[in-house]
Amino acid sequence: MFQVFKKLDWFFKHYWKRYTFAIISLIMASAIGLIPPRLLGFAIDHIQFETLTAHLLTIIIVGYLVLIIVHYSISFLWDYTLFSGAVILERWTRTKLIDHFLRMTPTFYGKYKTGDLMARSTNDLKAIAQTAGFGVLTLVDSTTFMFMLIAMMGFTISWKLTLAALIPLPIMAIIMNKYGAAIHARFTEAQAAFGNLNNEVLESIRGIRVIRAFVQEKQDRNHFEAMTEDVYQKNIAVAKIDAMFEPTMKILVGLSYTIGLGYGTILVFQNVISLGDLVSFNVYLGMLIWPMFAVGELINVLQRGNASLDRVNETINYEADVQNPISPVAVSHVYSIDFHDVSFSYPGTKVNQLEHIQLQVKKGQTIGVVGKTGSGKTTLFKLLLRQYPGVKGKIMISDVDVENLTLEQIRSWIGYVPQDQIMFSKSVRENIQFGKSDATDEEIFRVMELAHFLTDIKQLPQGLDTKVGESGVTLSGGQKQRVALARAFIKDPEILILDDSLSAVDGKTESKIIEHLREERKNKTTFIAAHRLSAVTHADHIIVLEDGKIAEEGTHEELMKNNGWYKEQYEQQQLDDEEVIS
Ligand code: ADP
Repeated sequence: MFQVFKKLDWFFKHYWKRYTFAIISLIMASAIGLIPPRLLGFAIDHIQFETLTAHLLTIIIVGYLVLIIVHYSISFLWDYTLFSGAVILERWTRTKLIDHFLRMTPTFYGKYKTGDLMARSTNDLKAIAQTAGFGVLTLVDSTTFMFMLIAMMGFTISWKLTLAALIPLPIMAIIMNKYGAAIHARFTEAQAAFGNLNNEVLESIRGIRVIRAFVQEKQDRNHFEAMTEDVYQKNIAVAKIDAMFEPTMKILVGLSYTIGLGYGTILVFQNVISLGDLVSFNVYLGMLIWPMFAVGELINVLQRGNASLDRVNETINYEADVQNPISPVAVSHVYSIDFHDVSFSYPGTKVNQLEHIQLQVKKGQTIGVVGKTGSGKTTLFKLLLRQYPGVKGKIMISDVDVENLTLEQIRSWIGYVPQDQIMFSKSVRENIQFGKSDATDEEIFRVMELAHFLTDIKQLPQGLDTKVGESGVTLSGGQKQRVALARAFIKDPEILILDDSLSAVDGKTESKIIEHLREERKNKTTFIAAHRLSAVTHADHIIVLEDGKIAEEGTHEELMKNNGWYKEQYEQQQLDDEEVIS
């Protein structure tokens, strides 16, 4: 259980000054808190023996007041330093976690679901932060403060009475230990169930249109209810143990009081201690309740913190399956891209999704990538983006194996526009500025013209400032694609990849965009994957993929002579277009 402090030692070492200060002031505050009960006993003894003068009473009362003020000030100091430490730890671990998320590849996101990751970044971080605040407080109070109290009772009043009143303590320690283990197990389960629930909510909200369209509301609701029930049951299981803490403590504390009062009275009658001593002793026993509680709370907080820290560390320690090279090669610009006999299968699949791909691209060329759905077009781009490990063969940029280039460098060259673009729930301007953070409105309008978005932006209620809603819900599919395109244009990348990014715009708009594209990207490399072959006819080279292999390749004219899938598909699409026009 105490391993959680060990696991967090990097944090405590970094903030050792803060924690030393907090702990020392906490101990000082506790020590000062020990004086008033003695003052009370002292006053009572003087009352009993009728030796209390007005002068003495004034001194006692003034002393009392001074102690209260000093105690208050020091308590403020430890409370502030200790609990702000917890907030710092929470911020620190959250930053670590988000940095980690940003470095992770699709394999990681395949393993962990979004809802679960959200649970880890919220609830679990809170539980960890508690260890650095409340955990440290209860640790100090249940050890140092308890010993100080016991020493005060033993040395200044009576060891016999103290030991007798403390008999229930070891029993309590044993029971608390048992509770602690149960809490750890149940809390871990409850947190995992919460993660699953989060995920369910996310999926239901994201998939609401499909759920409605397939009239699955009832099933979804039932399923959701079952999940909520699971979370409920698991949290109830935690609450049950939590609820047993306090009554158990109360019984044991009550027992201490009974012994203290009973045996204490006998000692007063035997003249071993004074009446003032007995009153002080009982006040001390009352003060002992908190450190005893603190033992329980300490176990509780540490077990939760430990369970959560394990969950968060499991995520943070997940090694990205694509790593930066140990000694990266610096390449100043992109003059070629080569795929040398590239084969690839996704982790966990047996068949190759790409086989023996051979492709040479020179700076300034436009490459068309076509083929049926599932033929491997996106996979080819993902490999260029280095999203997956385990590539057989070689992918080279400017004659350097991409494995020897840093991921940041590769990605800084590439502007990738996937079919399902990601829109952030910000304004259109901010969404486009993602490609270039300091882009001016003038530049934005220029790329919007290239992406054929100018007429649309005029229709949007607040123009560039229009908020697009979560995942761009207020925009149509075609509009989203064109905003994503503008975002890539403004980056003006060395390598632009349009991965079926024009699928939702009509043919006329598409041909206008392609025209702009040709003009704009004269000296830069562009990959275009498309279903509509009209989007690639102008390309310098076109590859046709079939089951991960290059089935045909050449220019549009060459492929048209081939009598293969390309020609057949092209002619079919021309016919379809004519039908639409007529
Ligand atoms: P395209 O872009 O041509 O439609 P993809 O490159 O997306 O095709 O997919 C090629 C093949 O790889 C398909 O059979 C698909 O099922 C498979 N595939 C795609 N992504 C994954 C993945 N993450 N894990 C396993 N298989 C995948």
